[in-house]
Amino acid sequence: MTPFECGVCWSGYDPAEGDPVWQIEPGTAFEALPAHWRCPKCDAPKEKFLAKPQPLGERLVRAWRTVMPRLAGLPVTNSRLTDVLCSRVVSTEGGQLAVVMTPWCLNAVWVADDGRAVATRGATVVRALPSGTYDFVAGELEGVGPVLSLSLMSPVLEFDGLEAGQVAVDAAFEALLLAPVPVQVTPTMGTSRRELFDLLRPSGP
Ligand code: FE
Repeated sequence: MTPFECGVCWSGYDPAEGDPVWQIEPGTAFEALPAHWRCPKCDAPKEKFLAKPQPLGERLVRAWRTVMPRLAGLPVTNSRLTDVLCSRVVSTEGGQLAVVMTPWCLNAVWVADDGRAVATRGATVVRALPSGTYDFVAGELEGVGPVLSLSLMSPVLEFDGLEAGQVAVDAAFEALLLAPVPVQVTPTMGTSRRELFDLLRPSGP
């Protein structure tokens, strides 16, 4: 479900939205558009369209959204988290890193700038971040390619909605990747990830 853009007028085709001009239903992949479909703005033919480069955050969110239906309703899945959440993205060690929350986990994810794998799948890769050194695991994410993942919290049942989830995502990003970290989190940094995330949990019953 990659977005495309017109190579003539640069207007976009977003599969999530479809195209009201040509009466294309939302959810229609670019590849599935009829052969006679043309740019709704400048009338360029379909062949003039190019896949639009996606920022990492959007690629991660799209990738996990496609997995969400498969895990819906499982005990590990938080039904109040109705979407995938992503932090800002930071460049580090030849790649980009972000924190992502799905309805079942909170992960830090690193992707190489050239998109290549840095280790075989399942291998541990040590990454030094401003807050400490972490063991990432090499893997593959459909729609993104080779990634390094660091599990921060799983499951994530205590978050009562997307707002609370986003607060935790942003707090985790700050705590992991940026220095200085908030005063109340500092004593636990680099010692126990569990303690860190106890502090990041939203308060309340
Ligand atoms: Fe166009």
